[in-house]
Amino acid sequence: MSFSSQVLTWFAEQGRKHFPWQQNKTPYRVWISEIMLQQTQVTTVIPYYQRFMESFPTVVDLANADEDTVLHHWTGLGYYARARNLHKAAQIIRDEYEGKFPEDIDSVMALPGIGRSTAGAVLSLSLNQSHPILDGNVKRVLARYFAESGYPGQSKFEKALWAYSEELTPQDNAADYNQAMMDIGATVCTRGKPLCERCPVALNCRAQRTGTTDQYPGKKPKKEKPVKRTHMLLFTDNEQVLMYKRPQSGIWGGLWSFYEAESEEQIVTIAAELGLEVQSQELLDEFRHTFSHFHLDIVPVKLQIQGQATIINDHQSQLWYHLQHGADIGLAASSKTLLAKLTTSKESK
Ligand code: SF4
Repeated sequence: MSFSSQVLTWFAEQGRKHFPWQQNKTPYRVWISEIMLQQTQVTTVIPYYQRFMESFPTVVDLANADEDTVLHHWTGLGYYARARNLHKAAQIIRDEYEGKFPEDIDSVMALPGIGRSTAGAVLSLSLNQSHPILDGNVKRVLARYFAESGYPGQSKFEKALWAYSEELTPQDNAADYNQAMMDIGATVCTRGKPLCERCPVALNCRAQRTGTTDQYPGKKPKKEKPVKRTHMLLFTDNEQVLMYKRPQSGIWGGLWSFYEAESEEQIVTIAAELGLEVQSQELLDEFRHTFSHFHLDIVPVKLQIQGQATIINDHQSQLWYHLQHGADIGLAASSKTLLAKLTTSKESK
């Protein structure tokens, strides 16, 4: 039995056929349901769909409503651009198509908010035209069935799946076939653990046969975060360490931290500017702090200063932090780590 025959046989027995948009099917009614279902669960959509249809039973009723009324019917569904696009598209249909929903795929795809898959779904489900679809559910089924590597949104992956969908969609019965593929994706080939034992195409499904269903569809690779590097300068007389308050903007805004140098050479300049005489310096263990957009590799440099630390202690922008007694100040995350390192290095002496 061919792929589509298996799917159609399954649909006859187990497909979902009782949703409100599956009764009295017209392109307009199917279109509204497809748009509502794009980001929202079926059970949430049903009452919204019914209210919408009561208020706007035809595409012209929708076109003639004011935008606020349309948005009001959408309140709670989220992604309001969908409702605005529905309204705009309805007005185009009223003005350019004499209020009759267009029935060729190119005209449907040219309407605002309707992509290839939605256009295909509207025309196949309502008029039984043969068009492939590729919504999230169908993508998952096909990616697993063909063990197609890649991830949704990746052009190579999308292209391959569109080609499979084109090849498999039958000329006849495309309405039932497309509905069945969406149903299989929603109820059998589910995101978490697919119910392969109930799947009509399990026999030739590559992912199922190789036990790799969890690998398809793939996930978009996370972007590598850039790595920055800094030297944090721990000027200390062994009792206290010099800290400064960071500017309000930027990382660790307004928190207390240590002076930083891009290179070891710059350390000498900073020490001179602060009027500190450095007796010796020691590199402590480097560590990484990760921000949302980058990694920061921190090289702590312990700088032993001459004599006692008495200068520059205004408590506004800089202070000598007492290693034993501490201070009631907001510390940057890295400062806590560094203070702990300094205390350890002091104890090990
Ligand atoms: S056999 Fe399993 S993994 Fe393959 S399409 Fe069916 S439900 Fe999905």
